Amino acid sequence: MSNYNWCHNPDCHKIETQSRVRGSGDNKVLRTRKIRVYNPDDPHIWDYFCNNNCLFSFLRKFCREVANLNPTTKPKETPIKVEKEKYESYRYNWNGSESRRVPYQATRTTIKSVDNA
Ligand SMILES: [Zn+2]
Repeated sequence: MSNYNWCHNPDCHKIETQSRVRGSGDNKVLRTRKIRVYNPDDPHIWDYFCNNNCLFSFLRKFCREVANLNPTTKPKETPIKVEKEKYESYRYNWNGSESRRVPYQATRTTIKSVDNA
């Protein structure tokens, strides 16, 4: 199994950096960057793109194809329960010379997942 990939941005080889220069004398080229794959069993986006710029250049160019890998024509929903809970909290009032700690009734809203298993 290969431990390297070439950067998948089709324009990686057009970006002018020293790290892409290959060849000698009058036969120099800018070459697509080679990417070391550290763990083939645990694939990662950075196994395919040499940096953020190349990843987003690829996504700009192929956004439609990428979206069509997993067409989403309607929203999905996750059942939840919303719990509201009142609790005692404090705010600070400034009277011009000092701040005073004033208690008030606060509300905490928590989204709880519903176990559908
Ligand atoms: Zn690249």
